[in-house]
Amino acid sequence: MSSLNLINLNKIYDHNVQAVYDFNLDVNDGEFVVLVGPSGCGKSTTLRMIAGLEDITSGQLIIDGKDVTKMPPKDRDIAMVFQNYALYAHMTVYENMAFSLTLRKENSDLIHTKVMAAAEILGLTNQLNKKPKQLSGGQRQRVAIGRAIIRNPKVFLFDEPLSNLDAKLRNSMRRELLLLHKKLNATIIYVTHDQTEALTLADKIVCMSMGYVQQVGTPLELYEHPKNLFVAGFIGLPSMNFIDVQITEDGKMVCPSFEYQLSADHQRLLKDYVGKTVVFGIRPEDIVEDGDIDFKVKINENLGQSTLVHGLAKEKKLVCKFKRWCAYKQNDMIKIGFVEEKMHFFDKETTNAITEAHNE
Ligand code: ADP
Repeated sequence: MSSLNLINLNKIYDHNVQAVYDFNLDVNDGEFVVLVGPSGCGKSTTLRMIAGLEDITSGQLIIDGKDVTKMPPKDRDIAMVFQNYALYAHMTVYENMAFSLTLRKENSDLIHTKVMAAAEILGLTNQLNKKPKQLSGGQRQRVAIGRAIIRNPKVFLFDEPLSNLDAKLRNSMRRELLLLHKKLNATIIYVTHDQTEALTLADKIVCMSMGYVQQVGTPLELYEHPKNLFVAGFIGLPSMNFIDVQITEDGKMVCPSFEYQLSADHQRLLKDYVGKTVVFGIRPEDIVEDGDIDFKVKINENLGQSTLVHGLAKEKKLVCKFKRWCAYKQNDMIKIGFVEEKMHFFDKETTNAITEAHNE
């Protein structure tokens, strides 16, 4: 398996459409990296540059220490798995999986051994004689993955591989992919717009917006310490609540909906923002049913182990997630508060998180 270094990659399409700006990333051997972001942010373009399916406008792509920036796709030793499976309809599962090795005129015993081994890993042993149309969506996706495994590539690239599956199948395929990654110890770069997939699958997440990398880090780093408003809002479901607040001289944050006494730590953090407006961020699960803030319930959404409570703090819409079965009715008035150590603050102008590092 392999490592990759993406150095200042830029992609400019015809008519000066720039899809990717200064993309920098190191991928370690055996790492599962997920590129995540909304549609059109440049994820697929980046993946396709790695595969060699798009020219790299500027920058350098290194695989295992070797510069492959200008190398044709077939020489890069990379396997790509697509959303639409791209299976050959007239071939059996066996023939589909064997295809790339047959094309290379590999010895048929070797092909057989490899196909059987991949089928075993993917639970396809009893499906080998079927045609793709006789398979479920999940099985087809597994065949597509099997075809990649058989090539024993340096790097696996996945482009939204679970998007065509229904919700239940997507969840089970996600777990299968995790197990597969453990079994193969493969280097994987995986593209998705789904933040849940990113959080559950990745060793390392690359969160993108409008062609720019916004943050690179572990799922926990992005969840707990989002670097800016974009990442804070994109990672996490339901999204983080954002409220414009004024920081006052007497250590409060104030908005039309509430006044809130800040802790000494938060006052220190925000000392340069006294008299200014910052964006306060709080995740739904970090709002508690205990505090001084009046909150009018609008919708009570039971999820089983928790309840999403949508409502208003005066005029401001907020979503709370309480870890119990709540039975609030519309217009019930409750009191809420915030978990101190889970409060986030963002500079309104730069949109960057205000952190201790900012004060050093
Ligand atoms: P994502 O995978 O995140 O949805 P893409 O990488 O497909 O995003 O696209 C990024 C941007 O590049 C989009 O604005 C898209 O319209 C543009 N783009 C993608 N492919 C082409 C192309 N072949 N020619 C021109 N623009 C393109």
